Amino acid sequence: MSNTIDTILKQVNLSKEDIIRLLQTNKEDRNKIFTHAAKVKAEYVGRKVYYRGLIEMSNICSKNCYYCGIRLDNKNVERYDISDSNIIDAARFAHKNNYGSIVLQAGEIISPKFTKRISNLLKQIKEISNNKLGITISLGEQPDEVYKEWFESGAHRYLLRIESSNPDLYYKLHPKDKKHDFETRLSCLKSLQKIGYQTGTGVMIGLPFQTYEDLANDLFFMKDFDIDMCGMGPYIEHNETPLYEYKDLLMPIDDRFTLTLKMIALLRILMKDINIAAATALQAINPIGREKAIKVGANIIMPNVTPGMYRNSYKLYENKPCTDEEAADCTNCMEMRIGITGDEIGYNEWGDSKHFEKRRS
Ligand code: SAM
Ligand code: SF4
Repeated sequence: MSNTIDTILKQVNLSKEDIIRLLQTNKEDRNKIFTHAAKVKAEYVGRKVYYRGLIEMSNICSKNCYYCGIRLDNKNVERYDISDSNIIDAARFAHKNNYGSIVLQAGEIISPKFTKRISNLLKQIKEISNNKLGITISLGEQPDEVYKEWFESGAHRYLLRIESSNPDLYYKLHPKDKKHDFETRLSCLKSLQKIGYQTGTGVMIGLPFQTYEDLANDLFFMKDFDIDMCGMGPYIEHNETPLYEYKDLLMPIDDRFTLTLKMIALLRILMKDINIAAATALQAINPIGREKAIKVGANIIMPNVTPGMYRNSYKLYENKPCTDEEAADCTNCMEMRIGITGDEIGYNEWGDSKHFEKRRS
């Protein structure tokens, strides 16, 4: 068995069966995958971790994804929308603390007013940082012209998870209606790539009804799509969401955690030079979850710079970490945490996807 894993890892191309086999490995074999992925990371993107200061600017959302704690129909959520000046202050904090980039994330709102607001924020963030802060946005599905306007206003990376590349599973996670259409999500991803964004996607891991084959297909989906960045993390149930009904179908949370690490390691092996984020949801399960992800292939971390008073209301899932902290606490804690991994922090660098650079040239 262990020889076979060694043999699989030596192959240039992995088949779906190989991937499924690797996803099902036991502890000893799993460590072989992790060691191999760490080598690939060191060779292709280096042992550097780049910061993206995460600003969760609003939890107001027009959608009803079955898994998400801030979905429209969850009436128990106290909704917030951080003022523009507080958002700019959070970006300024990131810049002053030598973060190379920020991420603006929110629930999904489609309106001319929201479009303009984001455009203005992007321009202001560029201005206050002398064009030094890189900007990733994660604001859901939008019309092409909106994506274009935001790109021209200064955003250069976009994160839109496919959540699952299997349409049948997608519709177990979302209402089957116009607002939650799998094809629309795909076409949004294609538009982002065409407009010129560094395009990121990802999936949740350990979902009810999800199979190992689904996960292997997700990895191949990302490879075929030729993504530049990935943010994927464990699914964590939230008791105020419809998907909670299936909690008894879930694998134990620690297994979801390990499976996520395997997915990260395998994606690093399959797509050697992309950027891979160590998802915050990993930290909700294990206090050093993100550091473990960095050890097995991730190279991006998103310290939360959202003002502390709002964090408790951006609860996508249960046990979301650091909701009682302020941005400065995160910065100090983060430096120490990256230190444990032995990687260096790419202060003041955008840390763009090397894959994107190659693709463009
Ligand atoms: N509204 C935008 C969107 O959906 O792309 C951006 C914000 S949304 C909260 C960001 C991500 O949170 C989603 O892509 C989803 O994968 C993740 N998420 C939501 N609920 C989750 C849960 N219960 N467990 C793990 N991840 C979750
Ligand atoms: Fe809204 Fe995004 Fe949550 Fe879906 S995942 S309900 S779009 S915030």
